[in-house]
Amino acid sequence: MKIKTKDLRVRAGESVDLKKWATGVSALYSSKENYAEILREHVSKLSALQELLYAHNRYSVLLILQAMDAAGKDGAIKHVMSGINPIGCQVFSFGRPSTEELDHDFLWRTYRCLPERGRIGIFNRSYYEEVLVVRVHPEILAGQLLPDLPEDTEQVWQDRYRSMNDFEAHQHRNGMRVVKIFLHVSKEEQRKRLLERIDNPHKNWKFQSGDIKERDLWKQYRAAYEDCLSATSSKTAPWYVVPADDKLSARLFVSQIVLETLEDLNMGYPETTPERRQELEAMRKMLEV
Ligand code: AMP
Ligand code: MG
Repeated sequence: MKIKTKDLRVRAGESVDLKKWATGVSALYSSKENYAEILREHVSKLSALQELLYAHNRYSVLLILQAMDAAGKDGAIKHVMSGINPIGCQVFSFGRPSTEELDHDFLWRTYRCLPERGRIGIFNRSYYEEVLVVRVHPEILAGQLLPDLPEDTEQVWQDRYRSMNDFEAHQHRNGMRVVKIFLHVSKEEQRKRLLERIDNPHKNWKFQSGDIKERDLWKQYRAAYEDCLSATSSKTAPWYVVPADDKLSARLFVSQIVLETLEDLNMGYPETTPERRQELEAMRKMLEV
């Protein structure tokens, strides 16, 4: 089955109204077995393409995942990247910045975690938090040691969007393919998942009291996401709004998007030149004595 991801892509310059973007879709699979089968197929293609990416050694892929709490980021990473050679894949999670990180510009800590050529990097949260959680909580911005902070902080977000767009364009020119996914979950589905974290002893550890406080700021977060998605989706580093009320469908969308990103790359295994062939034949002789 071919999943249409094009419909989930935010076009460059498009103004995003999240109420108009689905959180639920009719399932992309007919049964749990069928889901597992499709995912397995995606993962096996991903794995083959990742090896090619590694051998080709020109491009890298960065997948950025952003979402409200309990939207399924961790599960998506776990299932989509299962079966991929761990050597070719790196995951980084970004929480509150450390004192050392705050002593640098906001891209610094992520810059150090970018995937090398041949590798797939995943950011579980990212520098986008700088226009999301920081926007919703002005006191965080106040603590960021920035000089000449304007009273009207609107300019700060605009400047940050510009930094992000420039940064991603720069990375693209240098071989990195950036894809950004917002897992779009409804407030009601989040409520169910948070309750499940309370009811299921094995999930208790996931529940943080702060999650409830952030949930109360749902509208503010939505506005921040809408502004951010509208300002930072570009042709070369697009945002996808993935319906996430059904975790399994969301995982199929995510794997399909990464797959298409890899398929779009013009890659081949390095060619064996006639000289190299001779060299290999000489080595064969040595092994055959
Ligand atoms: P979790 O992903 O559940 O481990 O939580 C990480 C927390 O760190 C979330 O509440 C994020 O909003 C927060 N966080 C991530 N990046 C930043 C940032 N740049 N500034 C402040 N808080 C952040
Ligand atoms: Mg959390």
